[in-house]
Amino acid sequence: MDMKNVDWSNLGFGYIQTEKRFVANFKDGKWDEGIITDDATVSINECAGVLQYAQTCFEGLKAYTTADGSVVTFRPDLNADRMIDSCKRLMMPVFPKEKFIQAVKDVVAANIDCVPPYGSGATLYIRPYMFGTNPVIGVKPADEYQFRIFVTPVGPYFKGGAKPITIRVSDYDRAAPHGTGHIKAGLNYAMSLYQIVDAHEKGFDENMYLDPATRTKVEETGGANFLFVTKDNKIVTPKSNSILPSITRRSLLIVAKEYLGLEVEEREVLLSEVKDFAECGLCGTAAVISPVGKIYDHGEEIAFPSGMDEMGPITKKLYDTLTGIQMGRIDAPEGWICKIK
Ligand SMILES: *Cc1c(COP(=O)(O)O)cnc(C)c1O
Repeated sequence: MDMKNVDWSNLGFGYIQTEKRFVANFKDGKWDEGIITDDATVSINECAGVLQYAQTCFEGLKAYTTADGSVVTFRPDLNADRMIDSCKRLMMPVFPKEKFIQAVKDVVAANIDCVPPYGSGATLYIRPYMFGTNPVIGVKPADEYQFRIFVTPVGPYFKGGAKPITIRVSDYDRAAPHGTGHIKAGLNYAMSLYQIVDAHEKGFDENMYLDPATRTKVEETGGANFLFVTKDNKIVTPKSNSILPSITRRSLLIVAKEYLGLEVEEREVLLSEVKDFAECGLCGTAAVISPVGKIYDHGEEIAFPSGMDEMGPITKKLYDTLTGIQMGRIDAPEGWICKIK
């Protein structure tokens, strides 16, 4: 695809094939060196472990152009760490952290024309993933794996300003206690599809999942962590071992404390106390923060005082500060910005 004439600000969030990707193979107990290749097609046996028993996990991060024209990624070391945790839980071989970071840099560098310009709001989405490739029919881990990273340019998450969304409390569960909610496994998404399609059909943007054991505590949505703001400007985020540890959320907590001087609490959050919060947002790489205006809980409506027109004031400060750090307008904490060019 010729990137010279792309209308970056009107790009959507979809797969656009770029020229280069990274591929490494695990065989006989070790990873090969890996290559950057033009071949976008995966060719595996019909009985591959991933196809039968869903042995696969992934990561998601972005590369973008900063104010001074550099191309950077944000905290890729944490994506590497998290993928290691995912692999261990799914009995997959770990892809070494330093090699993961290097491969991310190499793929972005190989597709440098696809990194959207500063100020466009668009970014280059980076998708590392791993899957079992050899035939597996009796239930056990595969012996051979492929690790790949492709990139795809994506448009601004919010076109024309961040509008608050409406979510509903889901009747289905996302992740069992002591299950796989804390890792980035494809299987966590497969079982959320029914609920997200149903939510959209009924006019909701997202599902709020509760803890399956008691259905009284807030966990997260299908792909983003919750952040609440109390009426006295304290940041509260749910704590649970079945929540995926969002890098955006963890970074926002540091921003809240270190840059904005706000008090931060990571603790169990009861659904019954949500109505008392002043602001609510969803944190993830895609949007940084999506403001939540309303939550529906089976006929009952929780409307946040921040309303349906714009982000709440504290959410906005968090959003502006973190995106300022990412875009190079505000000094970043040591090690947060990984320069590629
Ligand atoms: C990826 C993901 C997030 C967001 O994590 P980031 O590292 O901030 O992108 C949140 N929840 C789930 C379930 C996820 O898979």
